[in-house]
Amino acid sequence: MVYDWKHWLQSPRFPVHCRLCAVRTGNAVSLCTDCIADLPWMKSACHQCGCALPAGDIRLRCGSCQQQPPPFEATTAILQYRPPVDYLVQRLKFSGELAIASLLSGLLARHLSSRQACMPGLVVPVPLHPTRLRIRGFNQATELARPLGRILGIAVDTRLCRRTRNTEPQSLLPVKSRRENLRDAFRVYRTPTTSHIAIVDDVMTSGHTAGELARALKRAGAERLEVWAIARAGH
Ligand SMILES: [Zn+2]
Ligand SMILES: [Zn+2]
Repeated sequence: MVYDWKHWLQSPRFPVHCRLCAVRTGNAVSLCTDCIADLPWMKSACHQCGCALPAGDIRLRCGSCQQQPPPFEATTAILQYRPPVDYLVQRLKFSGELAIASLLSGLLARHLSSRQACMPGLVVPVPLHPTRLRIRGFNQATELARPLGRILGIAVDTRLCRRTRNTEPQSLLPVKSRRENLRDAFRVYRTPTTSHIAIVDDVMTSGHTAGELARALKRAGAERLEVWAIARAGH
C-alpha cells in the first residue's frame, strides 16, 4: 500500500486532543481524565455473562446464567454499551479509526491487570468471516486483542479458528433466531496449546457469538473459557 501521509495527517490519529471533548491531552488518540471518569463503567455485573446487575445485587450470577449457564465460565466487560461508548466503537468499526482500539484495550488491560484470578494462557479474538474481513479490511476484535496481549504478556492467536459461515449480523435478527444463526459458525483448526483461553470481542450483546466460539474451542480441547469485551449491551 502506498503510504498516504496526507490522509494520515488529516486522520483523527494525529491530533493530541481528547476524542470526546477535544480538550488538549498531549497524547495521540486519548481521552482526558474527566471523560474517562464519566464513561458508563460497569459497576455490578454477572460474573459469568457480564450483564449489568441492579445496584446492590450481591448475586455472583444473574438468573439466566443460573438457569442456563453459557459455555464460558466468566466475562469481563468494563463498560456499558451506551453513549459515548457506542460512538467510540462505531468510529473504530465503521470508520476504521484503529487507534481507538488501543485506547479501549488500554482501559480493559488496566482493569484486567489488577485482578486476582489467574490469567488465561491465550487470547483469541472472535474471527470475522473472510468475506467481511475483506470488505472491512480489519477485524476490530483482533485490533483489540493485539495490544491486550502485548500489555498483559499473553500470546494472541488469530489463526486457531475461523468463521466458516458468513452469518447475518446478530443485531438484525430476533433474539430467538440468534443462536440458530450462529450454529457451527466457527471451526477450530488444532488443539489449543493451553486449556484456559480468553475470547476477545468489541461488544457483547446476547453472548451467543462468544458462546458459539467457546463451544467450538471446548470441543477442540479447551477447558476454561472467559470472554473479554470492551462493552456489554443488555440481554
Ligand atoms: Zn475529554
Ligand atoms: Zn449472567
